[in-house]
Order: sequence, then structure tokens, then C-alpha cells
Amino acid sequence: MVNWDMAQSAKMAARGAALDQERMREIYQFTARSLETVRPVPFGALIVNTQTGERLMRATNAVMRENDPSAHAETRTVRLACKKLKQPSLAGYTMYSTCEPCAMCMASALWARLDRVVFGATIGDAKRHVLQIHIPAKEVARRSDMRCVVEGPLLRELCNTLFTHPNMQKAFRSWSTSKAKTSK
Ligand SMILES: [Zn+2]
Repeated sequence: MVNWDMAQSAKMAARGAALDQERMREIYQFTARSLETVRPVPFGALIVNTQTGERLMRATNAVMRENDPSAHAETRTVRLACKKLKQPSLAGYTMYSTCEPCAMCMASALWARLDRVVFGATIGDAKRHVLQIHIPAKEVARRSDMRCVVEGPLLRELCNTLFTHPNMQKAFRSWSTSKAKTSK
């Protein structure tokens, strides 16, 4: 019986890992579409129902498009998802992000009561291209009263190709947070 339970839980864990990869690939592909537009971005986020996996919302970073420094992909997706549900809580939902959420975005995920956050590339990866706030998302979650499981990096190399794409590299030069523009 113990062995059967262990086999079952191993099977479920494998299935969960496969689903995580599938959803990360979805948000990667969605975000990658921006690379062929005039406003490419490497940051995208997807929110799904934790139980059913059904997609609730997905969005990319719109800082440049909306002239809003807080319009990061994760924060935007939380806002849009809550508006869609007409409630301020996303308990029962999971977020996938192409990059580890910054402190602002992780705080937004915590205030939204998300169950889980799964990220692709890390803050360390992103900092090679743009300015970052160097607090790991897991650390922000750990110091919060709200419970949220943070997992990653997942498909890190794939997500990193969003940053290194030639169109993205060209666009970074016009970003106010571009590494090339600052001496930091
Ligand atoms: Zn952010």
C-alpha cells in the first residue's frame, strides 16, 4: 500500500512537472510573438486555475507601450485577471512567468493570494540586460504573511532566448532601464 501510494504520488509529481513545462512553453511562445513587433518584450505572465489548468489571463510587459513603470508582465496580469473575475483575490490560481518576478511583482502576487508562482529565467539572468532589484522572489514570499509557493527556474535556457534575440537586444537600447545606458 505504501509503495502504491509512493508510486501514485511520483506519477502525480511527474504529471505536475509536465504541465508546468507545457504552460511555461505557452507563455514563452506568447511572449516570443512580441519579438517580431515594434515593441518587443522578454517578459510575459500567464495565470491559470490551479485545479483545472484553465487559462484565466496572460499579458506581457507594457512599460514602454503604456509609459507606466509599474506595467510589468506579472503585475499587469494580476490586475487584468482580478478585473476579469471582479474580485481582488486570485486564491486558487497559479502564475507562470518567463522571468523571476521582481520584488514589486512578487508582492503583487502575494497581495493577490496566488497559490503558486513558477518562473523561467532568473533575476540574475535579466540583470545582464536591464536594471533589476536584487531580491529573490522566494525571499519576498518567505518574508510575507501570505503563503505562496515559488518555483523555478524552469525552462531557463528557453526563456533566456527571449532576452538574447537580436530584435530584443536592439530594443533594450531604448529602454530607460537598459544596462547599456547606466554605469551600474
Ligand atoms: Zn516586476
